[in-house]
Amino acid sequence: FRNEMNHVERLSLVGQMAAGITHEIRNPMAVVRGFLQLMREKSPSSLDHYYRIVMEELDRANSIINDFLSLAQNRPVKMELCSLHEIVRELTPLLWADANLRGQSIEVKLDENVPDLWLNQKEIKQLILNLGRNGMEAMDEKGLLVLETKVGTDGVELFVTDTGPGIPAAQRERLFEPFFTTKTQGTGLGLPLCLSIMERHGGKISVASEEGTGTTFTVFFPFARNLPQEYGADLARFAE
Ligand code: ADP
Ligand code: MG
Repeated sequence: FRNEMNHVERLSLVGQMAAGITHEIRNPMAVVRGFLQLMREKSPSSLDHYYRIVMEELDRANSIINDFLSLAQNRPVKMELCSLHEIVRELTPLLWADANLRGQSIEVKLDENVPDLWLNQKEIKQLILNLGRNGMEAMDEKGLLVLETKVGTDGVELFVTDTGPGIPAAQRERLFEPFFTTKTQGTGLGLPLCLSIMERHGGKISVASEEGTGTTFTVFFPFARNLPQEYGADLARFAE
């Protein structure tokens, strides 16, 4: 992976910068949000529409900052032995609601032999949501998003497949670069975040895509890295 050193170096530089400015940005945003709420109570309801847009955009800016931070900090997180399927089942209604609004459908195929894995639930939730949303954003209506799990000999695979337009080869190389996006409203932070989450889990993420047919993102959790309990306990010491 030709850019790996640069990738790591870039992230640590970005991380240092981010740590410095984050609180400076978050605090005034929280103040703005608070006063907006007060203003709404005293303003005519004809402004409700504007209020809603301002709040949504403020929340969007917040989630960009949060994604950016989780990407930039890249620190050890607390791992727990837990069920991947429980996480998928918890997220399905969320993804389903999103798909439904777009006229798309969702299929979930879970391999019942998948064992519990050492995971950080919050991060894996974020990963599945990012991949699921990317899939939906790529598809038109009538698209189908499939979440599938499979046990292999050396680990567990999670596949997120869409029936979208696929990804041109030239773009495929850049997918995991921070800030690479083809969307007007995109941040280009979703996939870099997924990559760094899987690095922390000792796993892998890869993509296979055929133009005109669709895209599959494959997330791999190796058993080897996932076994030792001390590892989880060890990391827990670093976590907040
Ligand atoms: P964002 O979604 O904010 O653009 P991501 O890092 O999540 O950032 O994705 C980066 C880019 O990768 C997207 O802008 C899109 O061009 C491409 N991409 C990601 N997932 C898919 C997919 N399932 N199908 C087609 N293109 C995709
Ligand atoms: Mg995305």
